[in-house]
Amino acid sequence: MDNLPKYEANYTTLTPLTFLTRAAKSYADHTSIIYEGTRFTWQQTFHRCCRLAFSLRALNIATNHVVSVVAPNIPALYEMHFAVPMAGAVLNTINTRLDANNIATILQHSEARVLFVDYEYVPKVKEALGLLKGSAPKSHLPYPLIILIDDINSPTGIKFGELEYEQLVQKGDPNFVPEKINDEWAPITLNYTSGTTSAPKGVVYSHRGAYLSTLGQLLSWEIGTKPIYLWTLPMFHCNGWTLTWGVAARGGTNICLRKFSAYDIFRNISLHHVTHMCCAPIVFNIILEANIGIKLKSTVEILTGGAPPPAPLLEKIESFGFHVTHAYGMTEASGPALVCEWQKQWNKLPKCEQAELKARQGVSTLGLDDVDVKKMDTMESVPRDGKTIGEIVLRGSSIMKGYYKDPESTSMAFSNGWLHTGDIGVIHKDGYLEIKDRCKDVIISGGENISSVELESVIYRHPSVLEVAVVAMPHPKWGETPCAFVVLNGKNSHNVTEADIIEYCRKNMSHFMVPEMVKFVKEIPKNSTGKIQKFQLREKAKDFLVS
Ligand code: ADP
Repeated sequence: MDNLPKYEANYTTLTPLTFLTRAAKSYADHTSIIYEGTRFTWQQTFHRCCRLAFSLRALNIATNHVVSVVAPNIPALYEMHFAVPMAGAVLNTINTRLDANNIATILQHSEARVLFVDYEYVPKVKEALGLLKGSAPKSHLPYPLIILIDDINSPTGIKFGELEYEQLVQKGDPNFVPEKINDEWAPITLNYTSGTTSAPKGVVYSHRGAYLSTLGQLLSWEIGTKPIYLWTLPMFHCNGWTLTWGVAARGGTNICLRKFSAYDIFRNISLHHVTHMCCAPIVFNIILEANIGIKLKSTVEILTGGAPPPAPLLEKIESFGFHVTHAYGMTEASGPALVCEWQKQWNKLPKCEQAELKARQGVSTLGLDDVDVKKMDTMESVPRDGKTIGEIVLRGSSIMKGYYKDPESTSMAFSNGWLHTGDIGVIHKDGYLEIKDRCKDVIISGGENISSVELESVIYRHPSVLEVAVVAMPHPKWGETPCAFVVLNGKNSHNVTEADIIEYCRKNMSHFMVPEMVKFVKEIPKNSTGKIQKFQLREKAKDFLVS
C-alpha cells in the first residue's frame, strides 16, 4: 500500500456544522422550523445562520470568543447553535431557570463577549449585569455587548441592549463563507453543569465530540429522515442532548415552543404530527397529572433521561401511545452516554416486566468507546451479576474536553482516561447497566447499602403516589435509615396515611429497606434542570431524628 495520497490532502475536520450545509442542499425546501406563525425551510435557516455569523464577525467576534445566550426554545436559539460556531466562536447557552446571581457567575467566568437575551428574561439579566464585578477583558469593558431577541411573531418593542437579533440577521450576508474549522478539537460550545452536587462548572465540547455524539445519538435512537421534533427538552441542556445539530442532520422539522404544558404537548403533537420528543421523567408526571386522557393517533417516540424513570411511570406513559427509550447521561458526556437498547424478545413479556427492563440505563451509545462499573476501592471491573456495585466510568469521543479554566477539577474528573460519573451501578448478566444511586445519595444502614432509586421505584407503584424522593436520615442504631418524602396524586389519596405507605413498603421490599419515616409534602424541591435536590431533603430529614 505504498504511494497512496497523503491523507491530509483530502482531510476535512469533523464538525456538526456540515449537517446544516448538507440540509440546505438535500432538504432545501423542507420545513426546518415551525414556531407558532413562523416557518422556515432548511435553505432559509442556512442563509439566516450565514447572515448572523457574518454580523457577529462584523462585531469583531473572533475564533474562540464566547457568545452567551439566555433564551427559551425559540428559532433564534436553534439558529445560534450553527451561526455562532460558523463565526468561529463558542456558544454558551445559559439555563433560563438560573437566578441573576448564577447568571452573573457564568458571564464572569466565561468572559462572554456578547450576550443575547430573549425579551422575557430582560429583568433577570439586568439584575445579573448589575452583579458583574471586577475587570473584564479590555476589549469588552465592562459588560458583554447586549443583543435583544424580540419575539419574531409579535415583536414587543422592548428596548434593551445595543442591538436587536432580527436586525443583525437582516444586515448579514447570506453568502457568508463560514470560518474554516482547522482543528476538530476546537471548542464549539460551553455548557455549565446544573451544580446538583457541586458548584457549576463550564463543560467544553469540541466540534469533533459534538459531531460524533450527534451521530451516536441518532443511531442509538434510530431516528430516520425528516422526523418532526417537538422541543420540550431545553436546548440549553447539553445543546438539547445534541439534537439541535441532530435534527439538521436528519433534515427534520423543529417545532419550537417558548414554554409548554401537557395541553401544549398534545396540541402540538396533533397539529404537526410530531414523531419525536425528549424530556426528563418529570414531564411524564406533568402529562399524567393533567389527566387530559387523549390517546395518541400515532406513536410518538420519547427519549427520556436526566433522572431515573421509575418503571411504573414508564408503563403509565406508554399507555397513552408514547413509546419511550430510556437514556442516561450528563453534561460531561454531551448528554446521553448510555441507552437502554430494546431487545425484540422482550416484547413477549408482560408490560410491567418490560417497564422494569426499560428502567435500566442500558449499554453505551455509539458516541462512546466504552463504559464500565469499577469497584470503588480496587478500581477492578465488577462482575456481571446485577448485584456487585461500583462507580460508573465512561470513556470516548463524546466525553468533554474538560472544564473551562479549571484544570484541577478536570484532572479530578478523569483517571486513566475514564470519566468518573459519581453514580453507583451494577452490570446485569446481559451487559446492561443499572444505576443504583448517586454516590452521595446511597443510604448506608447498619453496614448495608440501600439504593434510594430502588426504594423510590417500589413506592411509585402505590396508586396514590405522584412523586417520591428517598434520602438518608440519621439513626442512633443503624447510622442511617431511609426517609421518604411523598407527594400524593389527586386520585385515590383522600384516606391514605403515612403509615399506609410504610405498610405498603413492608409488603413489597426487604425489611431492612423499609423507610423508618414517610412524610407527605406538597412539593419536592428541584433544581433548575428539574433534578430533585436531595441535599435539601437530607437537611429536613435530620429534624426527624429517631431517638
Ligand atoms: P448535574 O450533574 O449538574 O446535576 P447533569 O444534568 O449533568 O447535571 O446530571 C447528570 C446526572 O443525572 C447523572 O450523573 C445521574 O446521576 C443523573 N442521571 C441522568 N440520567 C439518568 C438516568 N437515566 N437514570 C438515572 N440517573 C440519571
